[in-house]
Amino acid sequence: MSKSLTSENKWDSVRRYKLTRMINELSGVSGHGTELVTVYIPPRRPIYDVIAQLRTEAGTASNIKSDLTRTHVQDALSRTVEYLKLFKETPEKGLIIFCGALPTGKGIGTEKVEIFPVMPPKPVQIQLYRCDDHFWTDHLKDMMKDDKSMGLLTIDTQEAGLGVLSGDRWQVEDTLTSGVSGKHRQGGQSARRFERLRDNELNEYYKRIAERAHRILIDQHKVKGLIVGGPGPTKDTFLREEYLDYRLQGNVVAVLDTSYSGEEGVRELVDKVNEEGVMDGYRLMDEKKIVKRFMKEVYSDKGLGIYGINDVINSLRNGIVELVIVTDDISVVLVEKKCRKCSNRDIDFVERPRLLAARQELVSSSCRNCGNVDQEFKESDIVEYLEELASSTGAELEIISGKSEEGAQISSLGKVGAILRFRPSGDQSSG
Ligand SMILES: [Zn+2]
Repeated sequence: MSKSLTSENKWDSVRRYKLTRMINELSGVSGHGTELVTVYIPPRRPIYDVIAQLRTEAGTASNIKSDLTRTHVQDALSRTVEYLKLFKETPEKGLIIFCGALPTGKGIGTEKVEIFPVMPPKPVQIQLYRCDDHFWTDHLKDMMKDDKSMGLLTIDTQEAGLGVLSGDRWQVEDTLTSGVSGKHRQGGQSARRFERLRDNELNEYYKRIAERAHRILIDQHKVKGLIVGGPGPTKDTFLREEYLDYRLQGNVVAVLDTSYSGEEGVRELVDKVNEEGVMDGYRLMDEKKIVKRFMKEVYSDKGLGIYGINDVINSLRNGIVELVIVTDDISVVLVEKKCRKCSNRDIDFVERPRLLAARQELVSSSCRNCGNVDQEFKESDIVEYLEELASSTGAELEIISGKSEEGAQISSLGKVGAILRFRPSGDQSSG
């Protein structure tokens, strides 16, 4: 794998995580009037054109009856125009802007106009301006989906499995059994008749597979290609006789030998695809490699694979971490305490469900250094904190999907782990 791809992936996983979180937050915002501005700018649309449109909209907005809404809309529009002026030309993939007066929690009239520009992960396909009581995040959500789904088919004469592999996950979608009898005929049956019956049965079975493949892989998942696996020559016969829809038949990316067919075969096929590097660059495959490398270190007696938030943070602070792995569903919040008297700082890691209880405990807790009860609290996202520590010590950070099988392995180890550059001297403990 080339260097540039690796570094791009590294940033992708962190950027992707942050963008997803931002989208989730923006989706939850509701304005108290139609005053939240969304702008999608496709790559070829000139910035001056967008600015002209927004100025016209600002003019129209002067007719809004509610003083508060009018002010909010006009503020949001002028803020967006000011931002757009920073660009000489439209960015390569276009630009998306969400801007509006967000509630501060202190009641109507205290809203603050904020702007959230997004450099999209792929080119913006639509030109859109909306002023609504919510932000139009759906198009961006769609852009975040990995659209390079790949179909998986494992087949032998007894059983077939259909699966779908997409950006960061895979799953078995369906399994079929043939009901075709074995290779050896029953006594009393003529060899020719037996062969003919068996061929008919196989033919029906292959047709059924092709129908299901059409429905699941094309109609439902719109896959871009197909990877076929299975033991023995059945898969080759099936492909040679062209049972599949041309969109699958013509897009077979690889045919790989597996020991099993059916559901177990699909699982095996995903591993094979990984080993053979068929889908290098796919996020799921990258994640598989990362987790595999990490698990190897965890099981090795070199003691370089560590896990659990406290160990990982301590090692990061000591500057001995090479790579940090964290799942995107980690629910730990970093709570920082700062004593208002002696400025002593302390941090705590709190599981999100415990946050409310923890806040109450903190309010009545006292400074570890001077005993003062007047402390300041700041809560922040654990991933951002890890990123900060990682980048200041030259460690890499990978955020992997908590939903995948690989993610589940990291989840069982506390959702965060690290590979160390070396074992700190004098430390004889393991893991
Ligand atoms: Zn203190």
